[in-house]
Amino acid sequence: MKTAKCLCGKVSIEIQDFHTKVGACHCSMCRKWGSGPLLTVNGGTGDQIKITPENLVTRYKSSEWAERGFCSNCGSNLFYRLLPTDFYSIPIDLFDEQEDANLTVEVYYDQKPKYYDFANETQKLTEAEIMEMVQAEYFDEK
Ligand SMILES: [Zn+2]
Ligand SMILES: [Zn+2]
Repeated sequence: MKTAKCLCGKVSIEIQDFHTKVGACHCSMCRKWGSGPLLTVNGGTGDQIKITPENLVTRYKSSEWAERGFCSNCGSNLFYRLLPTDFYSIPIDLFDEQEDANLTVEVYYDQKPKYYDFANETQKLTEAEIMEMVQAEYFDEK
């Protein structure tokens, strides 16, 4: 069990397993939402996660397949949730303990602006490569 907290401390997120692999999303929506790339860890599915109190969480449906949650009091980004799978990504910086965390993958790399670059050695995926993976995972007949 590991707890994440927003900036004002009123919203807590408890996850069962802390995954040390951090993913960065450079898509234009994440950057507009968070004033920079979104850096998250795997939070598991809705039944593995506890977010309290729900009345301080505003959920914004940012696309057909995802919603984004933020603290209604301080505005901290709390999660990105994929609706078809109920899968949560949680910003790594909501966790105080993050010693073992390591940036391993960068997605929507083709949408990354030129003004910054991470020096970490990472797997880099373009939007087309992500769409191919989603297609293979969820839509192709097996
Ligand atoms: Zn807050
Ligand atoms: Zn994104």
